[in-house]
Amino acid sequence: MEEKKKLIGMNLQELQDVAYKGKMPRFVGKQLAEWIYSKGAVSFDEMVNISKKNKAWLEEHYTIGRKAPVAQAKSNDGTVKYLFDVGSGRQVESVYIPDRDRATLCVSSQVGCKMNCYFCATGKLGFKANLDASDILNQILSIPPKPEKGFEPMTPLTNIVFMGMGEPLDNLEAVIKVIDILTSDWGFAWSPKRITVSTVGKLPQLKELLDRTQVHLAISVHTADVAQREALMPAQKAFPISAVMRTLAGYDFSHQRRLSLEYIMWRGINDDIAHADMLIKLIGNLDCRVNLIRFHAIPGVDLKTASEERMLMFRNYLNQHGITATIRTSRGEDIAAACGMLANRTTQQGN
Ligand code: SF4
Repeated sequence: MEEKKKLIGMNLQELQDVAYKGKMPRFVGKQLAEWIYSKGAVSFDEMVNISKKNKAWLEEHYTIGRKAPVAQAKSNDGTVKYLFDVGSGRQVESVYIPDRDRATLCVSSQVGCKMNCYFCATGKLGFKANLDASDILNQILSIPPKPEKGFEPMTPLTNIVFMGMGEPLDNLEAVIKVIDILTSDWGFAWSPKRITVSTVGKLPQLKELLDRTQVHLAISVHTADVAQREALMPAQKAFPISAVMRTLAGYDFSHQRRLSLEYIMWRGINDDIAHADMLIKLIGNLDCRVNLIRFHAIPGVDLKTASEERMLMFRNYLNQHGITATIRTSRGEDIAAACGMLANRTTQQGN
């Protein structure tokens, strides 16, 4: 039997096409969008303003496509890591990070990743598959679980970061479609300021993302030393950080849109003044902030996080040079929140 198509992940035009195919008035497409995205419906039964006959037709040909996580691990600090089944025996992770009245979800965009960064557990999986818009949106729609027996009420999501498994710009069309659904009036109606895409700086897709969306951007720099970056991040060869910075220089990050540079600090690798100077030079006049990040140990990777003292020294040095730099709070260390760790541990991925 042919597999039913999922409605999650469809944009308004596609939902209107579904209505047209079912010989329903066009406005049913908008009603479907409202039920699925803003009301979070999990079944056609809930859609009280759609006729019984039309619901029966929808039920016969489509599925909403909501899938609950298959596993979860909760940290002492409230961070929750979820594992989602995306078919063919493959799984991806999402991390829910509550912070006072905010809650951020870190979503995955691919199963595995082609970028093969030395320090990353997902990179060690290799690339398995791109997620489609429905698999990405399902992570957002199915977290946090609705308060019900057995679940504590959770702060509703206020922010999304594309910082989970995968390189979002290597799956650009699906990521842009998700952003469109999140920010359109007929979708989630979120401000793009609630969304951040994190990337190694894949070109020319970086430019496309900047031109076609208004979301915030986080660039994984990690070191401004070219030879060192090439060793840690093979993507440096194809997309040199200097070319990434030249592209960024063509955009305005001083108002609505924010640019962050991510910098994981490793002991004895990139945590000295010489590296801070290289970073300052790389940044030049670019309007951005630097996030200094502690390293979560990964099995089989001989890197250690920089000391607290070094991180403070590095941050203060950047601040003294007019660069806003902050040390990011570590979250979920007890549940291996670094991306790719849970999937690595619980599943043999794909092929
Ligand atoms: S750090 Fe990001 S880009 Fe690098 S291998 Fe991991 S998921 Fe891919």
